[in-house]
Amino acid sequence: MTQVTDHGGGVHSIKVPIPDNPLGHTLVHVLDTGRGPVLIDTGWDDPEAWDTLTAGLDAIGTGIGDIHGVVITHHHPDHHGLSGQVREASGAWIAMHAADAAIVRRTREARPGTWLSYLLTKLTAVGAPEEHLAPLRAAVEGGRMRTLPGLRSALPDREIVPGELLDLAGRRLRAIWTPGHTPGHVCLHLEEEHPGNLPGRGRLFSGDHLLPGISPHIGLYEDPDAAQGAAPAAGGDPIGDYLGSLEHIGRLGVAEVLPAHQYAFTDAAGRVRELLDHHEERLTGLLKLLAAPLTPWELAERMEWNRPWEQISHGSRNIAVSEAEAHLRRLVRLGRAEAVAGSEPVTYIAV
Ligand SMILES: [Zn+2]
Ligand SMILES: [Zn+2]
Repeated sequence: MTQVTDHGGGVHSIKVPIPDNPLGHTLVHVLDTGRGPVLIDTGWDDPEAWDTLTAGLDAIGTGIGDIHGVVITHHHPDHHGLSGQVREASGAWIAMHAADAAIVRRTREARPGTWLSYLLTKLTAVGAPEEHLAPLRAAVEGGRMRTLPGLRSALPDREIVPGELLDLAGRRLRAIWTPGHTPGHVCLHLEEEHPGNLPGRGRLFSGDHLLPGISPHIGLYEDPDAAQGAAPAAGGDPIGDYLGSLEHIGRLGVAEVLPAHQYAFTDAAGRVRELLDHHEERLTGLLKLLAAPLTPWELAERMEWNRPWEQISHGSRNIAVSEAEAHLRRLVRLGRAEAVAGSEPVTYIAV
């Protein structure tokens, strides 16, 4: 059973399954060009995903060997995982924004254990309790070589330059830099009339930036080597980046959005407004929590997640506290919260 949708105008999507993941699948888009089909994202590196992708291409009337190029919205394994295998089977180029390509390179070159010791230092600094740190410390001391996920992912060989048209025969596909979910996330604007004559300016491949029913995770994406010892709320402002990227996309006036998960939808501007409101509400809610000083860890414990804190796994708590810290950075940037002088681990309070 292949899961192919014809979106018209030389655009198809293939539902490529993600193993053991509530997201279910990645929508890999296939764009016909004068030099052969180009994939937008590839799917998770997994045999079933590979079989689904190749069967989907067969069903469209092409084949994996015909793929001319691969455009990656961001480096996450559900998007970039199969890129290397696609390149091997077809000789296709792989294009990615420089900021995400740098993460891929850094991950491949990291010494074993780098990630684990970064995590331990980081979680200590944000106030994680001993019971959370103990298993990590045991792993570091035991010399266990946990490596970063996605270690083997393919190095891209082309750069996606923000604002420029990609070099695709017979198509107008413009790269829109949308940092936030990752530093080098891009959306791709197909600046061609909608094949169903929907009103608006073309179609947008939105990756994970704009999804119809999910608010994407916004984490920190620190360089494990560079981040050691930095104060928790120092560094970049990924939530601010993300909100700016949302406004950018909202202004494009596209007719239809083709996201990398869930389903295609219209009214991009309405969805952008919902997400902006959601984030404003969340920041306001956090300020209430910060009436008393809290560490990033304590803030994460008190924030609203998709399930109670007690049911959140060790690994997901690490992601949650990274998101809490991203929110703290935003509040500090806005002058709505500040670090309490002399606190250790550092706490934050609303101002
Ligand atoms: Zn992602
Ligand atoms: Zn994704």
